[in-house]
Amino acid sequence: MPLLGCIADDFTGATDLASMLVRNGMRTVQLIGVPGADQPAPAADAIVVALKSRTAPVEQAVGESLAALEWLRKVGCRQFFFKYCSTFDSTDKGNIGPVGDALMDALGCGFALACPAFPTNARTVYQGHLFVGGALLNESGMEKHPLNPMTDASLVRVLGRQTRSPVGLVPFVTVERGAGAIRDAMTALKEQGRRWAVVDAVTDAHLFAIGEAASAHALLTGGSGVAIGLPENFRRAGLLPALADPGALPHVDGPAAVVAGSCSRATLQQIGVAREHVPVLQLDPLATPDANALARQATEWVAERLGRTPVVIAASAPPERVAELQARLGRDAAGALVEHALAGVAEALVKAGVRRLIVAGGETAGAVVTRLQVRSLRIGAEIDPGVPWTYAEGGGEPLLLALKSGNFGAPDFFIKAFTMLEGSAT
Ligand code: ADP
Repeated sequence: MPLLGCIADDFTGATDLASMLVRNGMRTVQLIGVPGADQPAPAADAIVVALKSRTAPVEQAVGESLAALEWLRKVGCRQFFFKYCSTFDSTDKGNIGPVGDALMDALGCGFALACPAFPTNARTVYQGHLFVGGALLNESGMEKHPLNPMTDASLVRVLGRQTRSPVGLVPFVTVERGAGAIRDAMTALKEQGRRWAVVDAVTDAHLFAIGEAASAHALLTGGSGVAIGLPENFRRAGLLPALADPGALPHVDGPAAVVAGSCSRATLQQIGVAREHVPVLQLDPLATPDANALARQATEWVAERLGRTPVVIAASAPPERVAELQARLGRDAAGALVEHALAGVAEALVKAGVRRLIVAGGETAGAVVTRLQVRSLRIGAEIDPGVPWTYAEGGGEPLLLALKSGNFGAPDFFIKAFTMLEGSAT
């Protein structure tokens, strides 16, 4: 039976959290969207439901989060985690405060900590203020974010504006003293009528201590960093056996392919490296601004190439080419055209037998996952930080799937990813 039930407000954040839990010893499955009422629980120690609620209207974010919570409770989870961005992406309307309040009400727990710190990624919280690297949040570039500009670094104030409940602080000096001191501070804040407490954290040691202090909490909220200490709580309680390989995935045989729609510098470089080793088809949406025709080109090209060697099909282009298509079709239509084409390519590849697939690009991955009707991803070992291999189930035959956000991964990412599968029991 699963132990930890997580609700993540976006897809890549969900994968990030899931990878963190696997690294720390929990078998973890990520579900895409609110699970259907009769969907059975996967065999896992932790389940992460990935929503798209970060910038959704508040009522929708609350509704979906509550529906996810209800399902997670029904399948037996005993502790819950609300995952949001480590830069606390939100506005005065929400969604972090209202979603957290609603989850607390549903659980009847009356208190939750808030800690977006993720020291590995240079997100730290000191005196309730969020730092990105050496800069306060409101001087980090996040103040110019198009959807949720973060113009105040004080999370006590930011969260205070999103909830009617008073927000307290567990400061650095207390966190430094360890789990017992943090637990006492949170109890005292709760007794003073605070429903929320922002907790400072500057190092992973702080996060482990916070996790330990919150072992009995029904709900925690934060970035994936603060989940680092939770697996150990379950092990300590005798609920989680020590697993040799919590990221073990079922074996899947079949040809390998990459579908790339990300135009980020990292992806362009990765395609360049792949070109030295494997066949690469460069689609040109400027020359062929027709999604079905592009997908057909790819299907024909791939027909005689599928085998042991991976193939790469990319629409990715340097900024001036992207700008040209956008100028011609409009920004949204250009993106939609290429996403539609690449979703068609992925579908054709899977139909042709591909069972190991990498998709590069966040939006591209969303389009592919929807087209393939993937509903669940069992999280495996990371290829590079933040990008695990996963075992995807849903629409048709299961396949191994790696979904890479644009800027993630080393230059040899694509080659390394497939070599890793050859070398492991996966
Ligand atoms: P990232 O994670 O790097 O942001 P995304 O897939 O989220 O990657 O975004 C890349 C966007 O660029 C997608 O909407 C994709 O369809 C679009 N795109 C890809 N190739 C081209 C191209 N050659 N011209 C115009 N747009 C493109």
